[in-house]
This record gives sequence, structure tokens and C-alpha cells, in this order.
Amino acid sequence: MRKRVYIAYTGGTIGMQKLQDGYAPAPGYLEEQIAAMPELKSDSMPEYTIHEYDPLLDSSDMTPADWLKIARDIAEHYDQYDGFIVLHGTDTMAYTASALPFMLRGLKKPVIVTGSQIPLCEVRSDARANLITVMLIAAGFAIPEVCLYFGHQLLRGCRSVKVNADGFDAFASPNYPPLGTIGIDIEIHWNLIMPPPNSPKRLQVQELSESMVGTLRLFPGIPARVVRNILQPPLKGLVLQAYGVGNGPTQPEFIAALQEATERGVVIVDCTQCLQGTVSLGDYVTGSALARAGVISGFDMTTEAALAKMFYLFSQNLPIETVKQLMQANLQGELTV
Ligand code: ASP
Repeated sequence: MRKRVYIAYTGGTIGMQKLQDGYAPAPGYLEEQIAAMPELKSDSMPEYTIHEYDPLLDSSDMTPADWLKIARDIAEHYDQYDGFIVLHGTDTMAYTASALPFMLRGLKKPVIVTGSQIPLCEVRSDARANLITVMLIAAGFAIPEVCLYFGHQLLRGCRSVKVNADGFDAFASPNYPPLGTIGIDIEIHWNLIMPPPNSPKRLQVQELSESMVGTLRLFPGIPARVVRNILQPPLKGLVLQAYGVGNGPTQPEFIAALQEATERGVVIVDCTQCLQGTVSLGDYVTGSALARAGVISGFDMTTEAALAKMFYLFSQNLPIETVKQLMQANLQGELTV
């Protein structure tokens, strides 16, 4: 029997048309073009269902409510399909791919997020190859993870970042090797893939209810007042994008702003601005000062993953100490301990 894949089409360049003001999604357009692709008629391809979202979005317009819509959609169709594809804009794809692993609890089937840099309707589009490849992977390989596929690489979703605004190799996973490399053969690196959850429980969706989290990127001379302002209630959590191994200014007003917030129960997680490597708060005086102010380490998590994890943890009404402890633990392969 042919395998079946479910395609959740959320929007993005892949199905866009050029309008007067620039590219925008066009309802019905992508499905028509996919139906006309001769490759999909081959016996080696799985059967597929496309669910076009309404409205189709440029992913720059997406919010955590859209992540939840995708997670619920997958859960609703979970039993009828072998694998799931999320067609998505590239701009915030890494955020969605980072959030879904936390939200889809007990996932045992592949969920692959992809899109393209050039619309499917255009001659030099990268969409055709991306779509065909993810259909084959989603149908043929029982990877129990949320992945992101782009530029011949299958990446762990919660390790992915967008690194190129206009190249075909638009995504990278700087702190974890690709889960698969796609050339003449589709090579899945099973040793890097998480084992499926061994509980017999059905897939469950963790709803996201909390949105009072944010990110702040340090820059030389950042005014302590700006930091104090962003940390005001109702903010509950902040991903602080610090320098190098997690360092920041030792200027007393800056440190005081952080400390006042952590003493009020705001969770501040230190992630590095560097693309690769890990936070190590004890290495420098400038990192130790942050730790003393109550800032915790995000280790080698991407900002996208740290932010998504905060949404997830704060949505569960956990005690602050538990949120802090789980932020520093590896839950879905997002962090190296
Ligand atoms: N602005 C588009 C989006 O994120 C870019 C893309 O899909 O490549 O929806």
C-alpha cells in the first residue's frame, strides 16, 4: 500500500505570486501547480492530502497562535498519515520548527517543515526539489522528530536557524549535525536521531497560552534604562542574546536592572550572539556578573529554541524554579548537556 503524507500549507514564498507591491500568497494557486507536477504521479511517490490554511500567511505575520494551529492540525490527522509536511515561509520557519517539538508531545512520526526561496511557479524555483524530497522522507523514514528540510539538509527543527536571506542554503544547524544529507541517496543519520518516546500514549498537543516572553540583543553601550524597561511586568521571561560565551557589561546599573528582575521572578536565559558554540558563564568576570544577577545559561540553544521553550514552559503554570531548571535541561534535543 502506498504511504500517505499530510501537507499543511501555511503560506510562504513557495506558493506566492508576484503582485504590484511584492510577493504575496495566492489561495488555491499552489495546490493547482502541485497537481500538475508529473513527478508526483510516479508510483514511488506517496499519496498526499494538501490542507491550505486560511488565510495563507507570509511567515513574518505568524504568531504562536499559528504554531498552535499547525500542532492541532497535525494531531487531528495523526492517525491517518505516515508523515507530515508543513509548507511555511522561510522568514520565521526556524521559530515554528523550534516550537513544534515542544508542543507535539509523544511524537512518533516525521514532521518536516520546508518551503522555498523562489515560488514554485517560477522556472528556477527550489520548491520542486524541496517538496519532492520531503515527501519521500516523510513517507519513507520513520523519524520521530520535527525536522526542517532545506538546501539538501535535514536538520533538527529546534536546532535550526535561518542564515541566508537569499541563498538556497538558507538554513543551518550550527550546534548539531544534520539528521540527514540528501545527494544521490537520501542518507538519514539514525545515530543522531532521538529514539521514539516509549510511552504508548497518543500524541498530545501542549497548548500555548503565555506570551509574555521576549528577546533582547546586547550591544555596546546599551542603556540600563532600556534593559530595565523591557524587564517590566508583565514580562515573565527574557532570552538575553549576550556576547561570546555569554558575557555582558559589568556596569552596575545594567547588572542592577537584571538582578531586580530576576528577584521579582523574571527568568533571564543567556544565549550567545555567536552562531556556533556554547554559553559558559563562569569563564569571564563579565559572565560571572550576569550569573550572580540571577541570569541562567542557555548553553548552546539557539535564540529561536530558547524563546519557543519559554512559551512552552510558561504555558504550563510551573513554579519559576522548575521553569529555570527545565530551561537548562535537554528536553527535545535542543541543547547539549
Ligand atoms: N517572506 C516569506 C515568508 O517568510 C519568505 C519566504 O517564504 O521565503 O513567508
